[in-house]
Amino acid sequence: MQIDILTLFPQMFQSPFSTGILKRAIDQKLVGINIQNIRDCAHDKHHTVDDYAYGGGAGMVLKPEPIFEAVESIKLDIKEGVNMLPIILLTPQGRPFSQQIAHELSRYRQVILICGRYEGVDERVREHLVTDEISIGDYVLSGGELAAMVVAEAVVRLLPGVLGSEDSPLDDSYATGLLEYPQYTRPAVYKGWSVPQVLLSGNHAQIANWRREQAILRTLERRPDLLDKANLSLEEKRLVNGLK
Ligand code: SAM
Repeated sequence: MQIDILTLFPQMFQSPFSTGILKRAIDQKLVGINIQNIRDCAHDKHHTVDDYAYGGGAGMVLKPEPIFEAVESIKLDIKEGVNMLPIILLTPQGRPFSQQIAHELSRYRQVILICGRYEGVDERVREHLVTDEISIGDYVLSGGELAAMVVAEAVVRLLPGVLGSEDSPLDDSYATGLLEYPQYTRPAVYKGWSVPQVLLSGNHAQIANWRREQAILRTLERRPDLLDKANLSLEEKRLVNGLK
């Protein structure tokens, strides 16, 4: 997969993409990350990328021309399926990012992420260039860079071969429609607090049952809204109704 990120602050991506699973995925060529400085597509003397808002008001707005040009230049290198290419604007006004959207994006061969700044981007970018808009939460950041990192990280860890079998994403929170069960490691007793006995039993069936039950209980306690869509057996539904 190829992820192109359009930004005014390329240096922000250095550390996150040279650490941990993202770095490993890049090194193994499971993903290619291209950080494109929007300013390189501004051709006046001062490489101007922003301007005052028509109608007045505080703050600057990102101009359309450099963003359109940056996207067009990426498209030129795409041989087939260019019409399918997701061009995503990170914006607090977008659809809320989720594990489901991460899965959706992980199926594409290439994705473009556009990071806004200042008061945002000229509306014509939204209307005539982007194919999707994503928000990482109901709060406002100063730029789309952190949001792009969140999206890239969540998508890349779903790509085949990125996670070893020892850290499969299948049990992760949201992957099953439930929050993940509690995790413990050694020591078995710490400050008098013991690991649940079942986890030390070596009985895999009992452990799997316990984890499933804990995931349901935890979801009911913290995110009951998720349970409506979770794939529960009849028995599990009865358990939930009883607990409710
Ligand atoms: N004036 C804009 C508004 O009210 O919708 C907010 C602009 S914000 C200060 C600057 C940029 O940060 C946005 O263009 C967007 O790219 C990014 N951004 C801020 N919050 C975000 C969020 N929750 N999710 C995704 N991107 C966000």
